Amino acid sequence: MSYVIEQRDDQLVNTSAAIRYELRFDRAPQHLVHVRMRVERVSSPTITLVMPVWAPGSYKVRDYAGWQGNVEAYTVRGAQRTRTTMRWRDKTSLEVTTDGADIIEVDYLIYGHERTVRTNHINRMHAFIMPVATLMYVEGRTDEIHHVLLKHDAKLWPKVSTQLSPVRPSSSDGILLGALNYDLLADSPIEIGDHVVKTFTAAGAKHELAICGYHEVDADWMVEQLVRIVDVEANVFGGVPYDRYVFIIWAYPGVGGGLEHARSSVNAVDPSSFLDKGRSSGLLSLLTHEYFHLWNVKRIRPVELGPFDYTRENLTSMLWLAEGMTSYYDDLFAYRCGFLTQREYINTLANDHISKLLRVPGRFRMSVRDSSTLAWLKLYMQSPDANNRFPSYYLKGGIVMLLLDLHVIDHTDGKKSLDDGLRALWAHYKANPEKGLTEAECIALFERGTGVQLRDLLNGWLDGTTELPFGELLGKVGLELDVSVVQPKAITFGEARAFASVPPSKFYGWTLADQGGRILVKSVEDETPAQLAGLGIDDEIVAVDGKRVTSTTMVEQFLAERRGEPRQLTCHCDGRMFETTITPAPVQTCSIKDVATISSRQQQLRDAWLKRLV
Ligand SMILES: [Zn+2]
Repeated sequence: MSYVIEQRDDQLVNTSAAIRYELRFDRAPQHLVHVRMRVERVSSPTITLVMPVWAPGSYKVRDYAGWQGNVEAYTVRGAQRTRTTMRWRDKTSLEVTTDGADIIEVDYLIYGHERTVRTNHINRMHAFIMPVATLMYVEGRTDEIHHVLLKHDAKLWPKVSTQLSPVRPSSSDGILLGALNYDLLADSPIEIGDHVVKTFTAAGAKHELAICGYHEVDADWMVEQLVRIVDVEANVFGGVPYDRYVFIIWAYPGVGGGLEHARSSVNAVDPSSFLDKGRSSGLLSLLTHEYFHLWNVKRIRPVELGPFDYTRENLTSMLWLAEGMTSYYDDLFAYRCGFLTQREYINTLANDHISKLLRVPGRFRMSVRDSSTLAWLKLYMQSPDANNRFPSYYLKGGIVMLLLDLHVIDHTDGKKSLDDGLRALWAHYKANPEKGLTEAECIALFERGTGVQLRDLLNGWLDGTTELPFGELLGKVGLELDVSVVQPKAITFGEARAFASVPPSKFYGWTLADQGGRILVKSVEDETPAQLAGLGIDDEIVAVDGKRVTSTTMVEQFLAERRGEPRQLTCHCDGRMFETTITPAPVQTCSIKDVATISSRQQQLRDAWLKRLV
């Protein structure tokens, strides 16, 4: 089976397709889209149509056929449409009897009311269609051109944003879009509605920005930032590999996350991200992250991730590359774009990366490679105890890539960096676009691109469960990791006279939730006061030293009253009460500081690491 993920809009103009879907939205208020799938040039007694179970980029079996209903199959001979028999062969595959006809049509409904970047969301205001969750494929015919005809009220929904290519100018018949094959179709979300659209040119290619939501958003400011992102990331690779790219941004309360595609990305953020620079940093890092994926994971990819088996889990041990490297580069690109100062970037490494990993006991229990292989069962189906059992390949994989970058910079006196390894992967993709990489090939390309022997070191980090050498490698660029106890700060009052010091906050290793006045333990970190006190998930904290607690604030206040002494907790588990003692621990913080005196070599390597190229 071939795998082609490159498509230019001019390749689809005036094409015809023997596999076509018509989408109607008259039931949109009930979150339904009606699909009519037409398959021509049928030549066998039966054909098999398959509904995928997962969306590439989101490693969980979601069984999209579960959202499908009212399925009916027909043979078509001229104007005559006759109901034909069909049966589900398994949970994904529908076998349709063709009765000698060379055209088959199948009608069905899809229910979509989940606002995530990987599921359909349809209501009277808009439709977000994920083709992989909506459109079945014909077994054995995924390499053909596929067309999608959108039939919606263009007065209500005047805008369509998608990486799918126009086949002909839109008309009263609807908007006809196309993909060179099913993989490209499955990869192409479609946003239809009255959203804000801006177009711009950057790195010699057309770009579209679609902002969806009901808040006022400064779209011109957003375009300015996107031009920076495109220029900075394209600079690493010597240009962009597409003719047109679509940034879809959802600004709805409570949403989050993103999903990458070959010529587009969907980025979901809370509208408050647009309010000020402080709050926009997450949005900007999300955009640099999902945009970088057009190179790393859509094109440069583990061998298991394209071509895909849409009917089952596609396991790979290489998500440290797909997501770890992307997590390292997202904030680095935000720095190179000028969204962060050098100090802000270093603080981000401390606060959002290293200090988070230091709070993951699971880093000593499972390697990042195994965490990747089991992503479908671990990261995407987390037990409440997950943090104690495995590290995220985003978090640990990103730090492995940071350390690898510093190692390369050190061993080449700053002449090479991870960028050079990345460019070697990119050159390999361009020569072999149809096949992904094995781990051995990937590591060999890193070595070829950087000229540094790194396989033993990298394999050790990827397979290991001991602490990574943060301190040693940060030292190469004149930085040191400082993990220390938080000291109380003096409070000033009135004319800035210090009158008291706040008792230092204490650390318990739990998270608590307030459920209608009942305080429940929702997570317990291994080797912390909460675990040593024998507490478990869903235990209820009823009283502290005999005083009833009905809010998490009361728990914190009562525990803070005596500075660090052991405290008596009255708890409830499974209908019975128990008593235990908890001994608070000091809160530690992690920061990255400049060494007292930076040497000229450390400064030289720091400059090589944090150079801004454009
Ligand atoms: Zn990602």
